[in-house]
Amino acid sequence: MIRIDLHVHTNFSGDATISPKFIVNQLYSHLFIKGIAITDHDTLEGYNHVRKLAATYEDILIIPGIEVSTRWGHINILGVEEKPGDWLTIDGVVDFARERGGVIVIPHPYRGSGIGERMSNIPADAIEVFNPHSTYEQNKMAEKLARAKNLPGVAGSDAHDPNEMWTAYTEVEAEPSVEAVLNAIRRGLTKAKSARQP
Ligand SMILES: [Zn+2]
Ligand SMILES: [Zn+2]
Repeated sequence: MIRIDLHVHTNFSGDATISPKFIVNQLYSHLFIKGIAITDHDTLEGYNHVRKLAATYEDILIIPGIEVSTRWGHINILGVEEKPGDWLTIDGVVDFARERGGVIVIPHPYRGSGIGERMSNIPADAIEVFNPHSTYEQNKMAEKLARAKNLPGVAGSDAHDPNEMWTAYTEVEAEPSVEAVLNAIRRGLTKAKSARQP
């Protein structure tokens, strides 16, 4: 089992201040979270820096990801190292992810920038059921949605600043490799965790 923060932004997101170097150092020294998915807004640049910096560290896992801004809300794709074109429709994002073997996660479905009820039309692989920036009710609704759709629940800190890191993570029943983790998410071998609760 590996514990992974599946939603983190670097300063390449524009609205975030966490440097790739800080992320790698923090992840390496964290006591039990040993993986991270870099999910910057519409760029892989931060991920590429983190990946390069992390290459010399052992026992930490970096998962490529991107938080795609569609006109209808955010969609996270894990496991792709490419950025989709601009102004994609939701179907376009789904096709993009599927063609590249990516895992589609619906982040914070009920927050302002969330997909909301449009989610029903998206063949997602997982729902973000805990996001520390969402309200208690919004997270509860996301949990309900995951149950109704019979989809795995995942969690991530959605950290934009260093003090927001590690507030949520996902326990994934998998070996610490990108492929194994993506497959385990697809199969629902996940547990969403809040780091604020014991
Ligand atoms: Zn978002
Ligand atoms: Zn985000």
